[in-house]
Amino acid sequence: MTDIPKLGLGTWQNTDPEECAKSVETALNMGYRHIDTAQAYENEEDVGKGLEDADVDREDYFLASKVWIDQLAPENVKASTKESVEKLGVDYVDLMYVHWPAGDYSPQETLKAFKELVHSGEIRNIGVSNFTPEQLDKAMEIAPKHIIANQVEMHPLLQQEELLEKCREHDVTLVAYSPLARGEVFDVPEIQEVAEKHDVSEAQVSLAWLMQKDGVVAIPKASSEEHIRDNYEALDLELDDEDVQKIDSIDREERMVDPGFAPW
Ligand code: NAP
Repeated sequence: MTDIPKLGLGTWQNTDPEECAKSVETALNMGYRHIDTAQAYENEEDVGKGLEDADVDREDYFLASKVWIDQLAPENVKASTKESVEKLGVDYVDLMYVHWPAGDYSPQETLKAFKELVHSGEIRNIGVSNFTPEQLDKAMEIAPKHIIANQVEMHPLLQQEELLEKCREHDVTLVAYSPLARGEVFDVPEIQEVAEKHDVSEAQVSLAWLMQKDGVVAIPKASSEEHIRDNYEALDLELDDEDVQKIDSIDREERMVDPGFAPW
C-alpha cells in the first residue's frame, strides 16, 4: 500500500495567495512531504505556486486534493480533477478524495469515475473523507485496490475509536483533519500538563498523540513559519504510556466541523 507521510500541511482557509504559497514552500523546504488542499479551498493555484517555488522534486512529496460535492457526477469528477491537476501545476496528484459523501455522491458511479482517473494517470490513489464506518465498507466493496485513506476530524477531543478500528480493518490510513481542534486543544488541562512535562507546545502534544497511533496521519494547518516549525518538531516528540493514557482518557466528543450535509 502507498505510504502517506505521517505529517502534512493543511491549507483550508489559507486564502491569501502569497501567504498560502509561502506556507507550502516553507513547509516543503523544512522537510514536510505531504500537502493537503481541496477544490473548495479555492487555493489550488496558490498551493501550486508554493510547490513550484520549493526546492523539492515532484516525486519526493505527496500531494492531495478533494473533489467538492457538486462535482461528484462522473463527468464532473473527471473534468474537475483535470482542472485541479492543471491549477496545481503538476502531472498528477498522489491522492484525490471524495470531499464528503453528499451532494452528487453516488457510490458506484462516483467511485467508478475516480478509478478511471487512476487508470488514465491523473491521480495515483483514491481517498474518501468524512465517511462513516458503513459508508467506508460500501466504498471498499467498489474500489478495494485504490482507496487508501479516510480523512476525518480527529484530535484529543474527538478520538474516533470506532472509525479508526474500521480503517485498520480495511488497511486504510486515517488522515486526521483539524488535529489541533482548530485551537481548542490548547486549553485542555490534560494536554497542558503533558506539554509542561516535556517542555513543548500543546500543539506538539496533540500531533504526537495522533501520529503515535498506528495508521494515523495528521495534517495541521499553519500559516506562519513559527507554527509550521512548531508542528514539524512534533515528529521528534515521544509520548510515554502515561502521557498517552492521560490523553486517551479525555472523554469529550467535540466536533469542530459539522455542516448540515454531514452523514452523521
Ligand atoms: P487545525 O489544523 O486543527 O488548526 C488550525 C489553526 O491552528 C490555525 O488557526 C493555525 O493558525 C493554528 N495553529 C497551527 N499550528 C499552531 C501552533 N503550533 N501553535 C498555535 N497555533 C497553531 O484546523 P483545520 O485547518 O481545520 O484542519 C487542518 C487541515 O485539515 C485543513 O487545513 C484542511 O487541509 C483539512 N481539513 C479537511 C476537512 C475535510 O472535510 N476533509 C475539514 C477540515 C479540515 P495559523 O494559520 O495562524 O498558523
